[in-house]
Amino acid sequence: MLKLTREHYDSFRRHGEETYPYECCGVLLGRMSDDGGGIRLVTSTACCGNTRTDSPHNRYHIDPRELVRIQREGRERGEDIVGFYHSHPDHPARWSSTDLAEAHWIGCSYVITSVEHGKAAITNSFELTGTDEDDKRLVDETLEIA
Ligand SMILES: [Zn+2]
Repeated sequence: MLKLTREHYDSFRRHGEETYPYECCGVLLGRMSDDGGGIRLVTSTACCGNTRTDSPHNRYHIDPRELVRIQREGRERGEDIVGFYHSHPDHPARWSSTDLAEAHWIGCSYVITSVEHGKAAITNSFELTGTDEDDKRLVDETLEIA
């Protein structure tokens, strides 16, 4: 389960509207809850530039150097990377085979917002489960706005 505030939820949905008709992308930072229930708590979000200039309407890519910087700055605040978000301009909020192929952070959430005609529509969250690249899967998970 992914837990986040209305403010965080609105911020990545707005980001998707701003970059429309291109995909937006960013990082969710926070921590795993202490009760062992596999709940990821979001405490901040970081917008990223989409470095996919070849096909930005249906692909996203976060610059690895930007990701390292976000991770380092998060750690200084006591936060870990708990997930990633991106948008699907005029496409459903379901993961694509490319999304799965390019997801590498097992145990993290992958949040997808469909943006229809420039307006954020449905947002879904998926957890990347499995043990390695060969058996990884994206599984539906609950997204709770607290
Ligand atoms: Zn996608």
